[in-house]
Amino acid sequence: MEFELRILGSSSATPSANRHPTAQLLTIGNQHHLIDCGEGTQMQLMRYKIKHQRICNIYISHLHGDHYFGLPGLLSTMHLQGRHTPLHLFGPPGLSEILSLQFKYSGTNLTFDLVFHELDTTVYQQIFEDKDITVHTIPMEHRIPCCGFLFREKPRPRPLIKEKLPAFLTHAQLVALKRGEDITDADGSLLVLNAEVTLEPKKSRSYAFCSDSRFKPDLLPHLRHVDLLYHEATFADELRERASYTYHSTAAQAAELAAAAQVRHLLLGHFSVRYKDLTPLLHEALDVFPQSSLAVEGNIFQVEEKEIVQLQMQKAE
Ligand SMILES: [Zn+2]
Repeated sequence: MEFELRILGSSSATPSANRHPTAQLLTIGNQHHLIDCGEGTQMQLMRYKIKHQRICNIYISHLHGDHYFGLPGLLSTMHLQGRHTPLHLFGPPGLSEILSLQFKYSGTNLTFDLVFHELDTTVYQQIFEDKDITVHTIPMEHRIPCCGFLFREKPRPRPLIKEKLPAFLTHAQLVALKRGEDITDADGSLLVLNAEVTLEPKKSRSYAFCSDSRFKPDLLPHLRHVDLLYHEATFADELRERASYTYHSTAAQAAELAAAAQVRHLLLGHFSVRYKDLTPLLHEALDVFPQSSLAVEGNIFQVEEKEIVQLQMQKAE
């Protein structure tokens, strides 16, 4: 099953000539999860040949414009193209009201169900679950209510060793073995010991998206050992004070958190427009945590068992 992140934008506050505001697409299996939707996100989806019809869920971290101004446009296009599949939208209080007003005065009656899930951004809690994954909110410390999102694969099935399987097993028993259970008879005596007929499952993968926030070391328990951690790095560390009073973080702080949480790989984003060249931010992080990359639009990060593979998206002609 694929587990990959596409970066559609990573600028903070205002777009710049080469950078769009925050938007990312996380694909797990055949489900597309859109995380934040800054201005121009639908253009970015087109540019990188991604079909927005496949998006099942949209998550908005907070109501600063650089994280959601692309949403009314994207929803409107979905409507004009006759979408029928329901769309689940997760966001802070107020978002539903903003959109309703927009649709009211444009006389829009959506062709699809927009199911709004209002988030409590102050707590760590599960907000979504399907057969493959769970999604939790991660509370951020920002000027307005703001949360990040933690995507985790559920425990993956244990592969069966076919030649060792007794012939009498039913379908239900095979499913139970894949879940890691032993097989017993009606009296409770052991028929098949799981460890003898199954292999260790592949490791479950995880992605933590930490949106706008002050440096917040108490996030650590939620981020421990995640495969991929995105953390905002609006400023270089020489502007640490400015970062603190604007409720943002520096590249070094993002790396400190990644190192303490022993994550596999760190992605930096939400860069201030003052940085034309992002190399100093990257180097600052690398000094603290060697597995760091810039989340630059067009990048794909695939989470594989042994490595994080970085690729480039193809642009439409
Ligand atoms: Zn913000």
